[in-house]
Amino acid sequence: MAVYEGTKSSEEFINLENEYGAHNYHPLPVVLDRGEGVFVWDVEGKKYYDFLSAYSALNQGHGHPKIIQALIDQAQKLTLTSRAFYNDVLGEFEKYVTEYFGFDKVLPMNTGAEGVETAIKICRKWAYEKKGIEENKAKIIVFDHNFHGRTTTIVSFSSDPVSYKNFGPYPEGFVRIPYNDLNALKEACQLPNVAGVMVEPIQGEAGVYVPDDGFLKGISDICKANNILFIDDEIQTGIGRTGKLLAADYEEVKPDILILGKALSGGAYPVSAVLADNEIMEVITPGTHGSTFGGNPLGAKVAIAALEVIKNEGLTENAAKLGAIFRDRMNKFIEKTELVSLIRGKGLLNAIVINDTEDSSTAWDLCIKLRDNGLLAKPTHGNIIRFAPPLVMTEDQLHECCDIIEKTISEF
Ligand code: PLP
Repeated sequence: MAVYEGTKSSEEFINLENEYGAHNYHPLPVVLDRGEGVFVWDVEGKKYYDFLSAYSALNQGHGHPKIIQALIDQAQKLTLTSRAFYNDVLGEFEKYVTEYFGFDKVLPMNTGAEGVETAIKICRKWAYEKKGIEENKAKIIVFDHNFHGRTTTIVSFSSDPVSYKNFGPYPEGFVRIPYNDLNALKEACQLPNVAGVMVEPIQGEAGVYVPDDGFLKGISDICKANNILFIDDEIQTGIGRTGKLLAADYEEVKPDILILGKALSGGAYPVSAVLADNEIMEVITPGTHGSTFGGNPLGAKVAIAALEVIKNEGLTENAAKLGAIFRDRMNKFIEKTELVSLIRGKGLLNAIVINDTEDSSTAWDLCIKLRDNGLLAKPTHGNIIRFAPPLVMTEDQLHECCDIIEKTISEF
């Protein structure tokens, strides 16, 4: 008998994962088997609002028909050539995505972490070949509480012991400074051999920390003044999520290197990309970087469709509008409750901070109750719950979600 034959309960699916899968996640106990737009259904048929969107990968909603059609059409034609040969889709994607975001060139990869690794490599190579830094001496400045992925290099500069502990030895070349502190950045940029500054415009994983207005502009100015590359990780914040196409657009700054992932494929297939102008991207030459799947025609077609949906359906504008409504309602509501001390965010990337200690189980327990009431969200760090629904949500649906959140917190 096949493992998946017959009807299984949520508990059986959870047990299956527990027994045979590595325990590298701690999922909320709900087993999903279907998604459409802003909704998902569990294996018992219960319907939920998805208020996480796979960490902002599903900005276009579950199973967007245009994205799925692009996936099916291309899957039936050609899925993978590797970059040993040209294919008839990659160039179309490269032209589309570079014009879309206003850069000369793109380097396509698959996951977000690979995008970040790519950006680090480009920055270092630029430092040695263009800026004239002595080989192996380049430094990249990063920020406390950063989250850029899970590779050994990336976790080496994390400030979260859960991420980095026991994964050493760690590579050199990263300097970590406080987030949202331009004075610390100015000082760090006086160190010898600084090649780049890598930043999340809003720290999503850390708990949706929104820096002060002017932080990104400040980074951009300091980088320009010191001939340092401004590397903008918009894997979570980009592609409409915060109410602008890029979160950096709020301060009208253009990074030297832009990293995208997640919603670049609307949750249908892993696609990430690094964008830069010729002067920087030309340091990448044949053989210096790549990936078997990076730039494959299936991912390329899916990404074009995913970006078209963002534009054609006004999802960025919708995120801005609904985000303002959401924070307005939540701000009014939290005046009446002791349990939530703060709501923060931009567009539809928001979080509430629970009035309890970081190691308390209150946020988790609240997420269980939200689940029972038909809305799925997850704590980020300790006492913080991130709220990031798909951007295809309607105003009525958002109000219904606010009703669920308010009712759940009131009854808690
Ligand atoms: N960078 C940021 C800002 C992220 O939020 C994430 C994932 O949450 C990553 C990088 C890593 O992306 P991936 O999980 O696709 O490797």
